[in-house]
Amino acid sequence: MTSLDVQSIGSLRAALTGPAVAPGDDGYDDARRIWNGQIDRHPAVIARCASADDVAASLAFARKRGLDVCVRGGGHNLSGAAVQDGALMIDLSGLRAIEVDPESRTARVSGGATWAELDEAAQAHGLATPGGTVSDTGIGGLTLGGGFGWLTSRHGLSIDNLLSVQIVLASGQVLKVSENDHSDLFWAIRGGGGNFGVVTEFQFRLHPVGPQVRLGMFFWSREHGTEALRFARDTLAGLPDGMGAMMVGYSAPPAPFVPTEYHLRTGYALAIVDFDDGKLDGVVAKIHDGPPTQFEMVSPIPYVELQKMLDFVIPPHSLSYEKSVYVKEITNEVIEVITRYLPKKSSPMSLMPITPMNGAYSTVPDDATAFGGTRQPGFIIGITAGAPKQELFEADRAWVRTFWEALVPHSSNYGGYVNFMSEFENDRVRASYGPTKYERLTRIKAVYDPENVFHHNANIKPRQT
Ligand code: FAD
Repeated sequence: MTSLDVQSIGSLRAALTGPAVAPGDDGYDDARRIWNGQIDRHPAVIARCASADDVAASLAFARKRGLDVCVRGGGHNLSGAAVQDGALMIDLSGLRAIEVDPESRTARVSGGATWAELDEAAQAHGLATPGGTVSDTGIGGLTLGGGFGWLTSRHGLSIDNLLSVQIVLASGQVLKVSENDHSDLFWAIRGGGGNFGVVTEFQFRLHPVGPQVRLGMFFWSREHGTEALRFARDTLAGLPDGMGAMMVGYSAPPAPFVPTEYHLRTGYALAIVDFDDGKLDGVVAKIHDGPPTQFEMVSPIPYVELQKMLDFVIPPHSLSYEKSVYVKEITNEVIEVITRYLPKKSSPMSLMPITPMNGAYSTVPDDATAFGGTRQPGFIIGITAGAPKQELFEADRAWVRTFWEALVPHSSNYGGYVNFMSEFENDRVRASYGPTKYERLTRIKAVYDPENVFHHNANIKPRQT
């Protein structure tokens, strides 16, 4: 493993406003820890950057010493891209400033902030932008890969609401990038992940949301899986525009709203969010005409709490692994695969979320951004292993792989969502983007990061000329 001498570390410290943390220092083990407890890696040094200049100085330091570079935003990526053995880790967790302008309905957000922080700041003005469904996820990685959540059918992906970024290139140059400035790069970073540089500031468009919204959650037993999933699929197809929704195969958590007899029992759920306060009652009435639920919950909920509701389904630092596919429709064949494989999971935390990708998401032309996936209406099926201990983790990692293989023949894109890759197999990264977008990304990569400094990600290889 690469190790740096005291003098080198001293020179990095002198070049930074933020601290640099090396092996043996207090706080080193906390700083190298990320969300996935399966990842246990030891960077040569961790640069806790406090500004774009700190990021540029860290990159210069790494370049001079031939050090590998990795970048940590919120540390959620299951692959562990954020932390690498022997690397210089650019840690953005000290860059958390958020400035909301309620007049222009925009927010400036530093590169290491989390969705919980932006949601809270924007909701103080009754505003929000589409983000993820787990609040401590980083804005950085989630946005750069696309970013979907409860607001996606209403307002699109996170990248569809991105107005500009400040980015530090591998060369150390700091650029402002938008539709009007370096528009090629602006296209690429909207879906192309952390391949092109380190984003130190995002500027988002905000929308009026909440602060109260209404949530309906409906639960069916595993034994009635086929009937429940077909009914949930048909319910989603008839949903009024702009509602948030998710279908899940899961084990019921021991939460207060779950009757004790169902705790940890495997089954299926449908969650629907009404942002307009008025549409949910009609949907609930239709659901009551369908197969009987085991239990349900219909309630107003503050938007910020909705955004935190799933934070502990898989608690931070659990052992985790994930794969995904896109499907055009939840056909009966897809449902047959799901009901065959879901009950085979071993860990109660493991789950299978299905998110509809439609509405505002599908009004954006396919080639308007680099997003890996088509804008045709469809669904992302995630298959996620989460476990408190190694044997369960290994069993469910194998479960994810076989479940995924069984879904692939029914998928419209087996690459799936780039942000749901625990491993970055080259063919899956290409498949996710498709040949045209991937080719365009390789050309832009060759301009802005020709030496592939930023390669710990769903990597776009710079085009060789
Ligand atoms: P990190 O691990 O810190 O970074 C991931 C990648 O992005 C790395 O390659 C890193 O180098 C790069 N990166 C991060 N920040 C920057 C930056 N500022 N500049 C340049 N590069 C950067 N995704 C969704 O779309 N919707 C969801 O609802 C959703 N839910 C999730 C729930 C959980 C529990 C988890 C673990 C993940 C979820 N994801 C979701 C996936 C999530 O989008 C990815 O894991 C994403 O990579 C996380 O970003 P991060 O900044 O936290 O991760």
